[in-house]
Amino acid sequence: MTTRNLLDHALMFAGFGLAVFPVSRPIRTSTGLRCNCGRQNCPSPGKHPDGRLAPHGFKDASASSETLARWFGKGPTNIGIATGSVSGIFVLDVDERHDGFSSLATLEREHGALPQTWRFLTGGGGEHILFRHPEATVRNSAGALGRGLDVRGDGGYIVAPPSLHISGREYAISVDHHPDDVALSEAPAWLLRLLQAAPSAKSPAKPIVSWRETVRSGIADGSRNQTLTRIAGHLVGKSVDPHVCLELLLSLNSRRCKPPLPEEEVCQLLKSILLRERYKRSGRRIGGAADV
Ligand SMILES: [Zn+2]
Repeated sequence: MTTRNLLDHALMFAGFGLAVFPVSRPIRTSTGLRCNCGRQNCPSPGKHPDGRLAPHGFKDASASSETLARWFGKGPTNIGIATGSVSGIFVLDVDERHDGFSSLATLEREHGALPQTWRFLTGGGGEHILFRHPEATVRNSAGALGRGLDVRGDGGYIVAPPSLHISGREYAISVDHHPDDVALSEAPAWLLRLLQAAPSAKSPAKPIVSWRETVRSGIADGSRNQTLTRIAGHLVGKSVDPHVCLELLLSLNSRRCKPPLPEEEVCQLLKSILLRERYKRSGRRIGGAADV
């Protein structure tokens, strides 16, 4: 992916009225892809705001071609789009790993098919479905509409094509749902109704049952770091003492991970979550903490 192509996409999104900002990007190292923020165990590789370019993350998002040229014209940087009224959009985020597509199919069977609108394929196998922002505030939520269905609204953002995902795949615009060919649609009334009814997810609520499934079933190679990181985030978010967190994670690692991760890696992932939490609580943005 060339820098030129990234800049072209950023400018195209800006041309559609979307506010864009730079996001961290995975880079190739001798041991595989790693987040360019340089942190050993970045909790959100290739997905958090690039604090070196945009210290206030999505709040710095812009549609000015000069700013975009400065951000995206110099070297490969992932593209974030601020969601909500600032860009006139909200996004239904379908997460394939958590059965988002089947949850969406269930909703469509019950309420009717979604209208034709812009769709972006995420590098993780999911899909971002974009809708025109309604006049009312759209809250961010995770799993409130169904398992694997998140909403990115006011105060949220998405990583946009042609960013590079940590899996090595690129985000892409769905060929049948390209902004050049298809209009951005309003969300159907049933979806807006469900959004209003959905609980706000300031701390992205994960149903208790799904935590139980996670710790009871084995954690397979390929998802070990990610799953233990999520569990660490859950525990740290509940203010569990860091030493207790570490003991629990090490024990889960040796009992449930197939095969267990090196203990050092478990310590590192907990450390990055603790750092993230510290910055969150001190009101600073992850992107600004890239040098920690
Ligand atoms: Zn990072």
